[in-house]
Amino acid sequence: MMRIQIIPKDYSNSKELTSTIKSVIKQHPLRNSVTSAVQERLLNMPIVVEISNYLVNICLGVRLHFDPMMYQDKGKREKVLFHEFAHIIDRLNPDFGIDCQSEDEARIMQPKQMTEGGFMVYQSIWNCYIDGRLEQSGQNPRSFKQHLQEFHDCSKHFGGYFTKEVNAIFEKAWNSKNLSFNEIVNLVKNCLQYWQPEKPKET
Ligand SMILES: [Zn+2]
Repeated sequence: MMRIQIIPKDYSNSKELTSTIKSVIKQHPLRNSVTSAVQERLLNMPIVVEISNYLVNICLGVRLHFDPMMYQDKGKREKVLFHEFAHIIDRLNPDFGIDCQSEDEARIMQPKQMTEGGFMVYQSIWNCYIDGRLEQSGQNPRSFKQHLQEFHDCSKHFGGYFTKEVNAIFEKAWNSKNLSFNEIVNLVKNCLQYWQPEKPKET
């Protein structure tokens, strides 16, 4: 029995969101990649979806969110939910091996000049690994090209850039069927070697 609670209770699209979430979980392409015990947990865990003005947070002991305003059409919204529930399936999967503490480590192991950057790399690689696995089913919200583009665009906000060598690391994540959290952390460390702080402007 799926228990899905939407907050606030009077959210206007409550019914539709609940039924979309149920069908996304039931048809999720990654469900077959985990043990029946993990599938069981996925089907039985209480899901709390918190709607704020711009964000929908899905709480399952972890917080996930997507922006419903950005995804007006149903097809896109569904794809975003497929992506978000892939994060949840990975988290529930003991073979993936994530825990909150190690997630914090991903924050800590960054070079000083990019305090938030290392975490951004970690999220980008995990996202890429997820959408790569969803691609065969056509349920990935972003293509490989979009992932790379967004990653390089986002990197600029941290006062530097990554050289094109990182593209091969992203390709590896995209094509992998079976990465663990620790392997993702290693890919992040690899990426960080190719960080170039912006050259100071000549005066
Ligand atoms: Zn994601």
